[in-house]
Amino acid sequence: MKLGLIGLGIMGKPMAKNLLKAGYDLTVFDLNQGAVDEIVAAGGKKAANTGELSSGVNIILTMLPNSPQVIQVVLGSGGVLESARSGSIVIDMSSINPIASREIAKALAEKNIDMLDAPVSGGEPKAIDGTLSFMVGGKKETFDKIKPILDTMGGSVVLCGDIGAGNVTKLCNQIVVAGNIASLAEALMLGQKAGVSPETIFQAIRGGLAGSTVMEAKAPMMIKRNFKPGFRIDLHIKDLNNVMDAAQSVDAPTPISAQVLEMMKVLHGLGEGNLDHSALACYYELLANMEFSL
Ligand code: NAD
Repeated sequence: MKLGLIGLGIMGKPMAKNLLKAGYDLTVFDLNQGAVDEIVAAGGKKAANTGELSSGVNIILTMLPNSPQVIQVVLGSGGVLESARSGSIVIDMSSINPIASREIAKALAEKNIDMLDAPVSGGEPKAIDGTLSFMVGGKKETFDKIKPILDTMGGSVVLCGDIGAGNVTKLCNQIVVAGNIASLAEALMLGQKAGVSPETIFQAIRGGLAGSTVMEAKAPMMIKRNFKPGFRIDLHIKDLNNVMDAAQSVDAPTPISAQVLEMMKVLHGLGEGNLDHSALACYYELLANMEFSL
């Protein structure tokens, strides 16, 4: 079985390394040559472009920013659809609009290429550890065939339904994460203004009902004002815009997501879109006219 992976960013690069560690024959492509060279040094092969990659493998994985990039890489000129062999499988691990996943899968099916949408949660640390959570949409028989591949990168691999169901589930995940980070920043700022240090609050509440994976990952970053990504504000804006789109298409209410999206857009407007999403703390610093301190 030959694998190809397109997209070697914060997530794709460590995921490629885990595929290589598991012994897979892996060919990679990215616009960033430095990332490609790093994977070649770790034992991967490189392709000159998407078409060359797609024609030489049976399974094509993608880990790209958003729907437009996945549409371009898969359906665009010189892309996967033009070059992949009949019978290949595309596994899109990017977090994109579920409506786009369904459209891409439909176009691929006409050439007898099956597709799964398989976005992940867990961020860079879990991409490195190989303990990501995969949320998968697609046919059960295709899922069963490729699950061992995802198992090498993930600690949990769950089939959520038909094509698009993976990205619907991922949007649900992003709603919970966004709301959690915003309320964490709100709580820590209230505490600091009322005379209890954010670090004390974190230590006191992390073991109780308010404690969460988000709190464990993001409270220390806020307290130290370390906003190195991680997961960039701009990517979370992309996800919350996809939430708005998906919610509108099924008439679902999303007032909290709409509010956090506005906060993130303020940060983007201030030139901070490349910071980690824990930088929602900066939005509260701005409102309170006070920086977080230890
Ligand atoms: P990133 O911006 O670090 O990486 C994207 C990579 O895609 C880059 O290396 C870029 O050069 C490459 N790329 C873009 N267009 C391309 C093209 N046309 N051809 C080839 N390569 C191309 O993003 P990331 O943080 O790795 O995120 C990737 C996806 O995973 C996103 O959908 C994101 O929402 C999702 N995700 C990210 C995290 C995280 O913590 N970073 C966590 C979970 C899910």
